[in-house]
Amino acid sequence: MDKYSVLKETFGYTSFREGQEELVDAIVSGRDVLGIMPTGAGKSLCFQIPALLLPGITIVVSPLISLMKDQVASLNAAGVHAAFINSSLTENQCRKALEFAREGRYKIIYVAPERLMTETFLSLAGAVEISMVAVDEAHCISQWGQDFRPGYLKIVDFVDALPTRPVLSAFTATATRTVKEDIQCILGLEQPLVTVTGYDRKNLYFSVEKPKDKKQELLKYLMGNKGKSGIIYCNTRKTVEELHGELVESGYPATRYHAGLSDLERKQNQEDFIYDRSPIMVATNAFGMGIDKSNVRYVLHYNMPKDVESYYQEAGRAGRDGEPAECILYYAAKDVKINEFLIQQQENPELEREELELLRERNYERLRKMTFYCFTNECLRDYILRYFGEYGSNYCGNCKNCLTEFQDVDVTEEATVLLELVRSSRERYGIQAITDAVHGTVNDRVRRFGLDRNPGFGKLKERTVVRIRQILNDLLVKDYLSLTPGDYPVLKLTDQGRRFLALTREQDEASLAMAGRSAVEQKGISLTERNLAEHNEMAMTGRILAEQTGNDADGSRIVLKLPKEREKEPKKDQPEKRKEAAEVKYPQLFELLRQKRYQMAQEAHVPPYIIFSDKTLREMSTCLPQTEKEMLSINGVGTRKYEQYGKEFAGVIREYMRDNQISK
Ligand code: ADP
Ligand code: MG
Repeated sequence: MDKYSVLKETFGYTSFREGQEELVDAIVSGRDVLGIMPTGAGKSLCFQIPALLLPGITIVVSPLISLMKDQVASLNAAGVHAAFINSSLTENQCRKALEFAREGRYKIIYVAPERLMTETFLSLAGAVEISMVAVDEAHCISQWGQDFRPGYLKIVDFVDALPTRPVLSAFTATATRTVKEDIQCILGLEQPLVTVTGYDRKNLYFSVEKPKDKKQELLKYLMGNKGKSGIIYCNTRKTVEELHGELVESGYPATRYHAGLSDLERKQNQEDFIYDRSPIMVATNAFGMGIDKSNVRYVLHYNMPKDVESYYQEAGRAGRDGEPAECILYYAAKDVKINEFLIQQQENPELEREELELLRERNYERLRKMTFYCFTNECLRDYILRYFGEYGSNYCGNCKNCLTEFQDVDVTEEATVLLELVRSSRERYGIQAITDAVHGTVNDRVRRFGLDRNPGFGKLKERTVVRIRQILNDLLVKDYLSLTPGDYPVLKLTDQGRRFLALTREQDEASLAMAGRSAVEQKGISLTERNLAEHNEMAMTGRILAEQTGNDADGSRIVLKLPKEREKEPKKDQPEKRKEAAEVKYPQLFELLRQKRYQMAQEAHVPPYIIFSDKTLREMSTCLPQTEKEMLSINGVGTRKYEQYGKEFAGVIREYMRDNQISK
């Protein structure tokens, strides 16, 4: 057997995806590896294929019971002998599994990290040949990661306790530098091949919405997406409960998941979701690690999550089959507040006070970047990719922003008024007070702060409050202003904001100087040499900034991108339409195959997608494979799966063709 025949015959795939082949090769040649690939990229295959090629057993360390169960079920369905050992087994089952393992019946054994150093497991490890230890979700080993699991530290002791050192392979979707270094150092990877693959998931559509009424908006969305499977993430258990109740009442097949439910109910609900009995899952972020359900068509965030890492990981659970899927985020200002509160509440007894402060600071910064995602009018995919240190093209054609027409509006004048007001009121007030003041609204707050006596008061009374808020947001996103964290966020000028104000002032002065020195002298200002040098430096910075932010060449103009009012007739040069699910030639057949799959899944007690993915069924409903050869040419159909399921599916296809008098 070589890697290609394992890929085809066991897993049913015709080609490796990006990164997979080099990782497989390295492992097989005996080299340690670290694979960093986004959720859904196909990390499992990177250690499963070598596991089948190496002479001995592979031990896979995995953090979650559900994840092990799922992967073992998948492997068994593909005809690979694999087992898991964790706390969900009875003492007896565990002993049996270890016994079989000792007899060499399994090629791959999944194990919870806490089990590694138990006496029974160690004695097994001493009695068999272990070729590889694969560490899945390897970021769990880092304290800086979001899911630190002290049990992961035991992996090192385990490897040390083995008579010969096996190959070590580690996999994660988390790409930050600290986590990457932690994994390499703590696990003690020896000159590993480190492979980082692209973070882009082209089949995912991204969108941010700011609905007035989130619930109504959600119901509208679900109405238009009936019959599809999706996850709705909320940031509190209470919201999960409320929404779930509402959806069930409206007749949607929804289930729920959060840490407040009993183990039993969580397990039950998760299975209902996976088996498509309840294809809609309402959950907190406790749900999802290791969920490999491939036909999730949308992930909708009802609240903004705490950082881009979490968002991309959660959103990435959509469209694992590579078919088009949607990632939608509902933003509200309250979400920011809740996240700030949670950061403040963070405790960790294992950290010193200063370390904790540092951690909080980093978390605020991450939250800020997440918030900007909700306000940028640039390509959303590009924003995410840049966050992870990659460069996208700044037009992806498959996100809300790329598909909305924008117009450039010069808001330099308004921005100057706003920044000047922030400065002259000594950076002590928040968004609301500043907005009210420039808009000329007299209320208690404005009076109390004395803002009604500021020269900037009412200077933008012709503008709508909405427009003023848009401009303020843009100034925050483009880093002219910043907000302090905490309960009463206050607007502060950033260095760039300060430079901008200075620059506009200097320009005024310069034009005054042009108009005649006397005017300048009258005001008691003269352009000294130093002033000029500063001016030049600022003009230079302005240019660099302009390149970065797309503003006017000398950095003295601020241009805001605002959505154009939709015109009734779509224009010719409108952005290309977004990608829809690939056409299925015979949709009725697709439904029949889905029913068949559901029925077989029930009989075999496995989730439907373990039999065949939607993508595979869609291909069948277009190509109409009947013979073994034709079936094996379909993506996702391997020899074993053909034997086990493929024949029956071919039967359904044949019947359908006959009933509808279709011939190829
Ligand atoms: P990850 O662990 O990286 O999040 P998985 O290993 O769970 O991702 O794989 C995600 C999906 O991609 C699975 O449904 C898997 O079968 C599929 N997959 C993996 N490799 C390939 C490949 N080479 N060709 C087609 N599909 C693949
Ligand atoms: Mg995985």
